[in-house]
Amino acid sequence: MSNIFHKIVTKKVQMDLIYEDDMVIAFNDINPISSTHILILPKTFIATLDDIQEKHEKILGRMLFVTAKIAKQKHLNRDGYRVVINCKQHGRQEIFYLHMHLLGGRKGTKKFY
Ligand code: AMP
Repeated sequence: MSNIFHKIVTKKVQMDLIYEDDMVIAFNDINPISSTHILILPKTFIATLDDIQEKHEKILGRMLFVTAKIAKQKHLNRDGYRVVINCKQHGRQEIFYLHMHLLGGRKGTKKFY
């Protein structure tokens, strides 16, 4: 698979690792739009949020749990942060491998990015 996030998950391409366990991996976004911009991915390939199935419930729960854990570690929880999932073209999803954006460290002027 030529998908860049698949290559990252399978360690064929390097990234700036933040967190990893048996289900998810988190790393710094290569082109951050806020002082903290971390991506959280499942290790199981899911192309978009539209492709999730009941069998993915545990993975999705882990993604959210890990996101909140990282936010605490980065001390983002005091002032707050934003979690974004872009889905398909109208959601402006660029990479078709499900991922969440953890954005923090600035006062956003836009509601969404
Ligand atoms: P999305 O529009 O939700 O698909 O977001 C894709 C994100 O992946 C963008 O914020 C990119 O900056 C980020 N990105 C693309 N390639 C890499 C990479 N090799 N390592 C880290 N982040 C990446």
